[in-house]
Amino acid sequence: MKLLLVEDSERLRDNLSRGLRAEGFTVDVATDGVEATGYLAGFGYDLMILDLGLPRLDGFGVLRALPTGGTRPRVLVLSARDQVGDRIDALNAGADDYLVKPFAFEEVLARLHALARRPAEVQADVLEHAGVRLDPQAHRAWAEGTALNLTPREFALLELLLRHRGRVFARATILERIAGSESEASDRSIEVLVFGLRRKLADAGCASLIENRRGAGYLIP
Ligand code: CA
Repeated sequence: MKLLLVEDSERLRDNLSRGLRAEGFTVDVATDGVEATGYLAGFGYDLMILDLGLPRLDGFGVLRALPTGGTRPRVLVLSARDQVGDRIDALNAGADDYLVKPFAFEEVLARLHALARRPAEVQADVLEHAGVRLDPQAHRAWAEGTALNLTPREFALLELLLRHRGRVFARATILERIAGSESEASDRSIEVLVFGLRRKLADAGCASLIENRRGAGYLIP
């Protein structure tokens, strides 16, 4: 899960980025609004934590500069401004959620996870990374130009990892996300599934796409 953290307070920025990285997020950090819009123009993010009071360009300016459509990150505003009017202004400007400082880190985490679970407005975008291309709508995938012959579960796993690049998925989470409640599925069957998908990717020339974090799970970094 790629996250852009926009905060001018150094202490808060360091604490949040450290905590979020420990939770498996891939975190980029911007210290003012202009820097934030630069990151947003150059990279794709799933989530953004945005302070409102920022040097050079404030949080509202960053919200106005957000791209529209499916590539837009979900935005959690963290602000010391605690008036109802501030919240309404931020939500109207495109924020998805609003949390008043001071806050508990656990609440930031819970809200980020809730935002990440919201269905994207546009799910049909073709996903592309490191030679792999996946078209969710056509239900087809390619590696280095070669069409991959994937089972439905292999396809779902590849889509999950590509859509949330940088996030480590535990076997139990993968089970829950793609195997549903089918009783024969187990941690072992996820290992077999990953093995099969990796082999097909390797045969097409993308051997090291999926990484294994021992004891934690799988990811596409
Ligand atoms: Ca600030």
